[in-house]
Amino acid sequence: MYGLGIVKGLWVTVQHFVDTYTDDIRWLSKRYIDPDKLSYRQSSKGKGLFTVQYPEEKLEVPERFRYLPFLLYEEKPDGTKEDRCTSCGICAKVCPPQCIWIERTEDPVTKRPVPAPKAFFIDTDICMNCGYCAEYCPFDAIKMDHDYEIASYDRTGAHVYDKEKLSKPVSYYAGIRPTDYAAEEQARAEAEAKKAARKAR
Ligand code: SF4
Ligand code: SF4
Repeated sequence: MYGLGIVKGLWVTVQHFVDTYTDDIRWLSKRYIDPDKLSYRQSSKGKGLFTVQYPEEKLEVPERFRYLPFLLYEEKPDGTKEDRCTSCGICAKVCPPQCIWIERTEDPVTKRPVPAPKAFFIDTDICMNCGYCAEYCPFDAIKMDHDYEIASYDRTGAHVYDKEKLSKPVSYYAGIRPTDYAAEEQARAEAEAKKAARKAR
């Protein structure tokens, strides 16, 4: 019958319209205090259309979401930190807008380079969040962060992140990207096992 498709389409629109208000009423008393609310509304069970009331409400970011890069360090049992970065410079080379600047540590006696960064800077105003640095790092030392709330009133130096500001523990990485972390740890364990087997021969 002519026009039936239009009527069906309009019925779907009306259902969405009504669902929007019934869902609003359902969550009204716990709109900003129930952490499950946003995740329910973003799930396939959520009905209607809704506006995220940022900053009181924040959209959950998917695991693969990437914003700025950060540097990883291992937390040792004695409480010390060990940078994964060896200051090889690959990330700086592949960075398309060239916003990474690294200074390698030098042995004070021999003056020979030590595989650790003395200084590491990223100009976050120039970074385009492409993730190349994380893709190419051979040591899993730089990864893409989920934190997107970095606005500041300072236009000059605040967005040039130094090593201290860039560094986060491996446990943080494991928390925001559990799938990638598990895959990398498994690959590392397999590589170690192969190395040990070669040595034993
Ligand atoms: S973050 Fe990775 S690629 Fe960049 S200098 Fe450090 S070890 Fe090399
Ligand atoms: S995410 Fe891309 S632009 Fe940003 S520092 Fe890494 S390589 Fe450079």
